[in-house]
Formats: sequence, structure tokens, C-alpha cells
Amino acid sequence: TEDWKGGQFCKNIEPSKKKKLAKVLSELVLTADDIERIIAVFTQQMDMANSAKPDIRSKSDHLMENTHIRQLMDGTENGEYLGLDLGGTNYRVVLAKFKNGVADITIQNYVIPEHVLSGPSSGAFDFIADGIRQFFEKYNMKGRTKKIPLGFTFSFPSRQKTLKSQTLVTWTKSFKCPDGPGLDPVQLLEEALQRNAPDVPVEVVVVMSDTTSTLMAGNYVDKKARIGLILGTGCNAAFVENLDNIERWSGDRKDPQHVIVNVEWGATGDKGCLDFCRTKYEKQLDQLSNHPKSFTFEKSVGGLYLGELVRLMLVELAKEGLVFGGYLPPSLQPPWSLTATQITQIESDKGDDSSNTVSALKELGVSDPDADDVAVVREVAEMVCRRGAYVVSCGLAALVKRMGLAAVTVAIDGSVYERHPKFHGYMMEILGDSRFDSNTQIELILVKDGSGQGGAFAAASALRQLAAGIR
Ligand code: BGC
Ligand code: MG
Repeated sequence: TEDWKGGQFCKNIEPSKKKKLAKVLSELVLTADDIERIIAVFTQQMDMANSAKPDIRSKSDHLMENTHIRQLMDGTENGEYLGLDLGGTNYRVVLAKFKNGVADITIQNYVIPEHVLSGPSSGAFDFIADGIRQFFEKYNMKGRTKKIPLGFTFSFPSRQKTLKSQTLVTWTKSFKCPDGPGLDPVQLLEEALQRNAPDVPVEVVVVMSDTTSTLMAGNYVDKKARIGLILGTGCNAAFVENLDNIERWSGDRKDPQHVIVNVEWGATGDKGCLDFCRTKYEKQLDQLSNHPKSFTFEKSVGGLYLGELVRLMLVELAKEGLVFGGYLPPSLQPPWSLTATQITQIESDKGDDSSNTVSALKELGVSDPDADDVAVVREVAEMVCRRGAYVVSCGLAALVKRMGLAAVTVAIDGSVYERHPKFHGYMMEILGDSRFDSNTQIELILVKDGSGQGGAFAAASALRQLAAGIR
């Protein structure tokens, strides 16, 4: 059995306590059989979502949406393009100035106040439109006579209709506006621009998810990039699919014979396909989240959730008297009080040096943690993160197998992959394991700010595509 056997941090914990710890911690371990099964689940979910038959498609938790983006970066891009990246409480405006395929980038970050996320969606879009107005002011771009093409990175599950129109299925992550589902985010943006920035010369030409924009940005630096992955607040992937493999292709059959497909896999498990391996803590977290019973898989790996998963385990371990002398520190009592930033801090400890964990605990009000506490906290943080990295790697393994290429680069953006010092390594434990081998050489690369930049890049490629009459 591959259940928890004691972990590297808990070597010195006394055997009877270790036995009790094992009872709690073993639930988190994914065995090789579990992993094979999760990979198979992802394969099946993608196949069903790809189906042209509505009754089969509706059984899947995935969307497999055609983005209609047919062309990647080809090195001939010229001119100015904007990207607008909305997916969390921050949004970004990006200006890409291309000269023969080489981009000069300007990025500006804006914050949406917390209360706006639960108000009417028009309020959130007013903020965004105002950010665009401020950007044009700051960079003296208001007097342009020609409209600047804008690629809108809108990172919520949507049904794509054309390059520049789609309908939102549901909000995820921190967004909980009462309206939005069923509406077109491009229309919402255009209306907000009318209200807040009528003189600003922009024109939305394409809308996509952050996975798609990250894929575009990855392809700019590495031609082997055929997958875009987000490992941030949420989690999702997009990839370059051959038209022949798509059962619902409605565009034309002109070259290139491919299109970017947005998997939208965050909801994997919503209909029960991951029930065989869900933990008690994942179920508890779901109840506490903004969107209960939705986005099951994302809640095992997204940065919004890692800290709370660790906290819920510490609650259980304290209840069992296995950590903090049986008393949970007050600072750890409220849900969501432990963040991914603190988990990253704990996970940056190397070997026997636990100084980051000790400082994190001190900041949480545990002034004098004993050696066992430190060991248990490190162990739990590592197990939760490794588990998250394993499930997302299962999704990737299934996707890579489906694509069947000799080699592929996965372009990755998002705070978890960028900041967590061990996430890449955990992922490679699965992706580099011959037991789960896909016969594809996989490279994972960080494309920092890819989701924003790629929006502007996609605007360039969408216009090139339209000019060539490709749909
Ligand atoms: C959204 C996806 C997005 C992912 C990463 C999910 O919650 O549904 O569209 O790609 O988060 O930001
Ligand atoms: Mg993002």
C-alpha cells in the first residue's frame, strides 16, 4: 500500500502518535491506481464533451469549447494591440507594440474592490472600462483616430459562439454577481465602455479564456507550445486540436487544419466522476465556498483553496490532539484564514531547515511551536499541494495522450505555478513517471503574465485570420 507511511518530516515523531496521524493523513494519498483512474476519468470527460450528441455531451463536466482561434503566432505581427485580462480581483490592461513579430509590452494592474464582486455585473464592468480609460490617459493614447484592436481575456466558463461572442455559463472563483450567466461578456464590456469611456478608441476583436491567451503567449516564446495551462486562483487548460478530431466543428475547413479548444475542466467531478477519491476536507471546503457543488476539481488545486484545505486538516488534527496540543490557535479558526501565500512560505523550507514554517506559525500567533507541530504542519502542507499537483497532472497526462504528439511544451501561467517552489517538481513526479507515460516528451514552462499578454497577441492573430477569410 502507498498510504501515508510517516513522511520525511515526521521521522522523529513517536510511533503511537504517528500511527494516529496516519489514520488522518492516509486519506490524502493518491495511489498509482487512483492516478490511472483519474487520468481515465479526464479522458472520458473530454471525449464526452467533444460529442456532437447533446445527451452525451451533457453528461460531461467539461465544455471543450472551440475558441475559433485558428492561428498561432507566425512572426509577421506588426502594429499595436491591447489585451484586457479579467479573471480574479485583479485585472490587467496590456499594450503590445509589434515590430516584425517582436512585441514591446506595457502592463498595468488594477484592483476590483471586494464588494463589487457580489454586486451587479454592470458594476464590475464599469470598473474594468474605467481601467481602460485610465490606461489611455496614462500613456497618452486618447487622441488616436484609428481604434486599437483589443483581445479580451475573460476567465470564466463560457460557451463560445464566434471569435468575439460568447455566453457566460456561471461565475467561479471570487466572482458572485447575481447576474451574468447567460450574458455575453463582450457586450457587457462594450456597454460599460460606452458608459465610462465613450471617447476611448478601442474595438474588441476576440474573447478567450486565460488558458487560450497563455497558449498564445507561450507559442510566442516556444513554437512547441500547444497547451496553455492556468494554475492560479483557478485551474484550466486549452490546447491546439485538429479539426478532424472535433465532432462539432462549425467553421470552415480551410488551412490551418486546427483550432484552439478550451477544455474548461475545473468542474470535473461535479457529476460524481471523482467521488472515488474525494476527501472529507474537499467536501467540507466545497460547503464553505462561494459556489458549492460546483468546480469540484478546481477546489483541490486552485490557489484560492489550498490554504483552506490545509487549515481544515489542521482543524481535524487538533481535534484529535495531534497538533498544537489539541487547541487550534484563534487565528486559524475562521474559514479561509490560511492563504496560499502562507502555504507557499511553509513549502519554501528545504530539508531540515524549518525556519519559514516557524515564521509563518509565529505570524499566525503560534509563538512557540514544538518540533512535532512544525513537522505536522510541513507534512500537511506538502501532502495537500502534492495531491493538487497530482490531480492536475492527471488532466495534463490525459490531454497529452489525446494529442499524441512526439513532444509538447505546456505554457503555464498563474500564481500557484509561479510562486510555489515545489509545484513543478510534484507535477513532474507524475508526468515523468513511466507508469503513466504518454510517449510524449513534455516540457512545462512558466509564461509570466502570459494570460494578459496573450490577449493582445490573440487580437493580432484574430485580425490576420479574419483578413484571410478563415472562420
Ligand atoms: C474558469 C476558467 C479559467 C480558470 C483559470 C476557472 O474558474 O472557469 O475559465 O480558465 O478558472 O483562471
Ligand atoms: Mg489570471
